[in-house]
Amino acid sequence: MRRPDWQTSRIYCVGRNYADHAREMGADPSREAPFFFSKPADALVSGNVPYPSLTRDFQHEVELVVALGRGGADLSLTDAAACIDAYAVGIDWTRRDLQAEAKRLGRPWDTAKGFDYSASIGPLCPREAAGDINDADIELTVNGVRRQSGNIRQMIWSVPEIIAELSRYYCLKSGDLIYTGTPAGVAAVNIGDDILARVTGLEPLQLTIVAR
Ligand code: MN
Repeated sequence: MRRPDWQTSRIYCVGRNYADHAREMGADPSREAPFFFSKPADALVSGNVPYPSLTRDFQHEVELVVALGRGGADLSLTDAAACIDAYAVGIDWTRRDLQAEAKRLGRPWDTAKGFDYSASIGPLCPREAAGDINDADIELTVNGVRRQSGNIRQMIWSVPEIIAELSRYYCLKSGDLIYTGTPAGVAAVNIGDDILARVTGLEPLQLTIVAR
Protein backbone atom coordinates (compact mmCIF):
# COMPACT_ATOMS: atom_id res chain seq x y z
CA MET A 1 0.00 0.00 0.00
CA ARG A 2 1.35 3.39 -0.93
CA ARG A 3 0.34 6.87 0.12
CA PRO A 4 -0.04 9.27 -2.81
CA ASP A 5 1.99 12.46 -3.10
CA TRP A 6 -1.03 14.76 -3.02
CA GLN A 7 -1.46 16.47 0.37
CA THR A 8 -5.16 16.70 1.09
CA SER A 9 -6.95 17.70 4.25
CA ARG A 10 -10.44 16.64 3.22
CA ILE A 11 -12.01 14.02 0.96
CA TYR A 12 -15.58 14.77 -0.04
CA CYS A 13 -17.76 12.24 -1.84
CA VAL A 14 -21.02 12.56 -3.77
CA GLY A 15 -23.68 9.89 -3.32
CA ARG A 16 -26.02 8.83 -6.13
CA ASN A 17 -24.77 11.18 -8.82
CA TYR A 18 -25.61 8.82 -11.71
CA ALA A 19 -29.28 7.87 -12.20
CA ASP A 20 -28.52 4.24 -13.14
CA HIS A 21 -26.51 3.72 -9.93
CA ALA A 22 -29.18 5.44 -7.81
CA ARG A 23 -31.70 2.96 -9.25
CA GLU A 24 -29.51 -0.07 -8.55
CA MET A 25 -29.26 1.16 -4.92
CA GLY A 26 -33.07 1.24 -4.71
CA ALA A 27 -33.47 5.05 -4.88
CA ASP A 28 -35.57 7.14 -7.27
CA PRO A 29 -33.23 9.68 -8.99
CA SER A 30 -36.18 11.80 -10.15
CA ARG A 31 -37.14 12.49 -6.54
CA GLU A 32 -33.88 12.43 -4.56
CA ALA A 33 -30.99 14.80 -5.24
CA PRO A 34 -27.38 13.62 -4.84
CA PHE A 35 -25.83 14.24 -1.41
CA PHE A 36 -22.45 14.38 0.32
CA PHE A 37 -20.45 12.25 2.72
CA SER A 38 -16.72 12.24 3.47
CA LYS A 39 -13.70 10.06 4.18
CA PRO A 40 -10.67 10.79 6.39
CA ALA A 41 -7.73 12.23 4.45
CA ASP A 42 -5.47 9.31 5.38
CA ALA A 43 -7.88 6.84 3.75
CA LEU A 44 -6.18 7.79 0.48
CA VAL A 45 -4.16 5.01 -1.18
CA SER A 46 -2.40 4.48 -4.50
CA GLY A 47 -1.45 0.94 -5.42
CA ASN A 48 -2.75 -2.26 -3.88
CA VAL A 49 -5.70 -2.28 -1.49
CA PRO A 50 -6.04 -4.58 1.55
CA TYR A 51 -9.32 -6.46 1.92
CA PRO A 52 -10.83 -4.76 5.01
CA SER A 53 -12.02 -6.38 8.22
CA LEU A 54 -15.67 -6.93 9.20
CA THR A 55 -17.19 -7.19 5.73
CA ARG A 56 -18.23 -9.98 3.39
CA ASP A 57 -19.34 -7.62 0.65
CA PHE A 58 -16.44 -5.30 -0.28
CA GLN A 59 -17.45 -3.33 -3.38
CA HIS A 60 -15.83 -1.04 -5.96
CA GLU A 61 -17.22 2.33 -7.09
CA VAL A 62 -15.15 3.86 -9.90
CA GLU A 63 -15.28 7.67 -9.80
CA LEU A 64 -13.79 10.80 -11.35
CA VAL A 65 -11.78 12.58 -8.64
CA VAL A 66 -11.43 16.36 -8.73
CA ALA A 67 -8.53 18.10 -6.92
CA LEU A 68 -9.07 21.74 -5.97
CA GLY A 69 -6.35 24.33 -6.51
CA ARG A 70 -8.29 26.99 -4.65
CA GLY A 71 -11.46 27.15 -2.58
CA GLY A 72 -14.00 29.46 -1.01
CA ALA A 73 -17.55 29.50 0.28
CA ASP A 74 -20.84 30.08 -1.54
CA LEU A 75 -19.14 29.89 -4.94
CA SER A 76 -20.89 30.75 -8.20
CA LEU A 77 -20.72 28.13 -10.97
CA THR A 78 -18.03 30.18 -12.72
CA ASP A 79 -15.92 30.50 -9.57
CA ALA A 80 -16.51 26.81 -8.79
CA ALA A 81 -15.18 25.79 -12.21
CA ALA A 82 -12.09 27.95 -11.63
CA CYS A 83 -11.27 25.93 -8.48
CA ILE A 84 -10.50 22.77 -10.48
CA ASP A 85 -6.77 22.07 -10.51
CA ALA A 86 -6.50 18.43 -11.58
CA TYR A 87 -8.37 15.18 -12.15
CA ALA A 88 -7.64 11.56 -11.29
CA VAL A 89 -9.29 8.17 -11.51
CA GLY A 90 -10.49 6.99 -8.10
CA ILE A 91 -12.36 4.19 -6.41
CA ASP A 92 -14.72 4.81 -3.49
CA TRP A 93 -14.36 1.44 -1.71
CA THR A 94 -17.45 0.41 0.26
CA ARG A 95 -18.32 -2.20 2.86
CA ARG A 96 -21.73 -2.66 1.25
CA ASP A 97 -23.11 -4.95 3.96
CA LEU A 98 -22.29 -2.39 6.67
CA GLN A 99 -23.75 0.39 4.53
CA ALA A 100 -27.00 -1.56 4.06
CA GLU A 101 -27.24 -2.09 7.82
CA ALA A 102 -26.53 1.61 8.50
CA LYS A 103 -29.26 2.63 6.05
CA ARG A 104 -31.72 0.23 7.63
CA LEU A 105 -30.99 1.48 11.15
CA GLY A 106 -30.66 5.17 10.21
CA ARG A 107 -27.05 5.21 11.39
CA PRO A 108 -23.97 7.06 9.98
CA TRP A 109 -21.99 5.58 7.08
CA ASP A 110 -18.50 6.07 8.52
CA THR A 111 -17.62 2.40 9.04
CA ALA A 112 -19.05 1.56 5.59
CA LYS A 113 -17.27 4.33 3.67
CA GLY A 114 -14.57 6.03 5.73
CA PHE A 115 -12.26 3.16 6.70
CA ASP A 116 -8.48 2.72 6.14
CA TYR A 117 -7.44 2.50 2.46
CA SER A 118 -11.02 3.20 1.30
CA ALA A 119 -10.06 5.93 -1.20
CA SER A 120 -7.98 4.69 -4.13
CA ILE A 121 -6.52 7.39 -6.34
CA GLY A 122 -4.49 7.29 -9.55
CA PRO A 123 -1.96 9.90 -10.76
CA LEU A 124 -3.31 13.45 -10.83
CA CYS A 125 -3.61 15.01 -14.29
CA PRO A 126 -3.67 18.82 -14.65
CA ARG A 127 -7.04 19.99 -15.98
CA GLU A 128 -5.45 21.52 -19.10
CA ALA A 129 -3.96 18.13 -20.02
CA ALA A 130 -7.10 16.09 -19.40
CA GLY A 131 -8.99 16.92 -22.61
CA ASP A 132 -12.78 17.18 -22.51
CA ILE A 133 -13.42 15.55 -19.15
CA ASN A 134 -17.15 16.31 -19.41
CA ASP A 135 -17.47 13.79 -22.25
CA ALA A 136 -15.03 11.17 -20.93
CA ASP A 137 -15.89 7.48 -20.64
CA ILE A 138 -15.49 5.95 -17.18
CA GLU A 139 -15.08 2.22 -16.62
CA LEU A 140 -13.79 -0.45 -14.26
CA THR A 141 -12.77 -4.02 -14.99
CA VAL A 142 -12.11 -6.88 -12.55
CA ASN A 143 -9.72 -9.56 -13.87
CA GLY A 144 -10.31 -8.18 -17.37
CA VAL A 145 -14.11 -8.35 -17.17
CA ARG A 146 -15.95 -5.02 -17.43
CA ARG A 147 -18.11 -4.36 -14.39
CA GLN A 148 -18.85 -0.63 -14.64
CA SER A 149 -19.03 1.63 -17.67
CA GLY A 150 -20.54 5.05 -18.22
CA ASN A 151 -19.76 8.59 -19.29
CA ILE A 152 -19.08 11.71 -17.23
CA ARG A 153 -21.91 13.51 -19.06
CA GLN A 154 -24.37 11.14 -17.28
CA MET A 155 -23.66 12.78 -13.92
CA ILE A 156 -26.75 14.37 -12.34
CA TRP A 157 -24.65 17.18 -10.82
CA SER A 158 -21.80 18.37 -13.10
CA VAL A 159 -18.37 18.99 -11.57
CA PRO A 160 -18.92 22.79 -11.22
CA GLU A 161 -22.38 22.14 -9.73
CA ILE A 162 -20.86 19.72 -7.19
CA ILE A 163 -18.21 22.27 -6.15
CA ALA A 164 -20.72 25.13 -5.93
CA GLU A 165 -23.16 23.04 -3.89
CA LEU A 166 -20.40 21.71 -1.60
CA SER A 167 -19.18 25.30 -1.00
CA ARG A 168 -22.57 26.11 0.56
CA TYR A 169 -21.81 23.56 3.32
CA TYR A 170 -18.03 24.01 3.72
CA CYS A 171 -15.44 26.65 3.01
CA LEU A 172 -13.47 24.70 0.42
CA LYS A 173 -9.67 24.74 0.45
CA SER A 174 -6.81 24.17 -1.92
CA GLY A 175 -5.94 20.48 -1.74
CA ASP A 176 -9.48 19.24 -1.13
CA LEU A 177 -10.42 16.15 -3.15
CA ILE A 178 -13.93 15.36 -4.38
CA TYR A 179 -15.08 11.89 -5.45
CA THR A 180 -17.90 12.69 -7.86
CA GLY A 181 -20.05 9.55 -7.77
CA THR A 182 -20.18 6.22 -9.58
CA PRO A 183 -22.12 4.78 -12.53
CA ALA A 184 -24.04 1.49 -12.26
CA GLY A 185 -22.41 -1.92 -11.94
CA VAL A 186 -20.94 -1.78 -8.43
CA ALA A 187 -20.09 -5.29 -7.22
CA ALA A 188 -17.98 -7.26 -4.76
CA VAL A 189 -14.26 -8.06 -5.08
CA ASN A 190 -12.08 -10.71 -3.45
CA ILE A 191 -8.44 -11.10 -2.46
CA GLY A 192 -6.34 -11.61 -5.59
CA ASP A 193 -8.63 -9.66 -7.92
CA ASP A 194 -6.90 -7.32 -10.38
CA ILE A 195 -8.67 -4.00 -10.78
CA LEU A 196 -8.27 -1.59 -13.70
CA ALA A 197 -10.13 1.73 -13.55
CA ARG A 198 -10.10 4.22 -16.39
CA VAL A 199 -11.40 7.65 -17.35
CA THR A 200 -10.66 8.83 -20.90
CA GLY A 201 -7.78 11.31 -20.91
CA LEU A 202 -6.41 10.32 -17.48
CA GLU A 203 -3.77 7.83 -16.42
CA PRO A 204 -5.45 4.54 -15.47
CA LEU A 205 -5.54 3.20 -11.94
CA GLN A 206 -4.37 -0.39 -11.57
CA LEU A 207 -4.24 -2.39 -8.34
CA THR A 208 -4.70 -5.79 -6.74
CA ILE A 209 -6.82 -6.67 -3.71
CA VAL A 210 -4.44 -8.14 -1.12
CA ALA A 211 -4.79 -9.70 2.33
CA ARG A 212 -4.43 -7.19 5.12
MN1 MN B 1 -19.30 6.56 -4.35
